[in-house]
Amino acid sequence: MSRVLHIPRAMVEELKGVAEAGAPLEVCALLAGTGNRIERVFPMTNADASADHFTMVPAEQFAAIKAMRTDRLHMLAVWHSHPATAARMSEEDLRLAYTPDVAYMITSLAVADDESLCGYDVEDGIPRQIQIVIED
Ligand SMILES: [Zn+2]
Repeated sequence: MSRVLHIPRAMVEELKGVAEAGAPLEVCALLAGTGNRIERVFPMTNADASADHFTMVPAEQFAAIKAMRTDRLHMLAVWHSHPATAARMSEEDLRLAYTPDVAYMITSLAVADDESLCGYDVEDGIPRQIQIVIED
């Protein structure tokens, strides 16, 4: 059964803003919340400073996970931007999608708004698109 994640529209806009601010480089973040609802964005430094891939800084990841625990939030998704390509998992994204039990979400700056945010579950290197419900 495929997962459904809920996200407030304001947070979708926040992510787009973060993506635009970082363009033409990819930016990344951890998304946390309760149940299947995303409630907080933890922006992360892209250690690669690259336009087509990203690596999070471990110390920042640990700090974010600690803050999530303190606030009783769960990590729900690993998010990054695609400044120039569609919101689909690249070969590199799939190769590096090794965090268990989280969704992978991508904001594309290259497509129309209604296609700009996509999410995936990745199992054995195979992405399956999940449903993202944007809440007003
Ligand atoms: Zn990517």
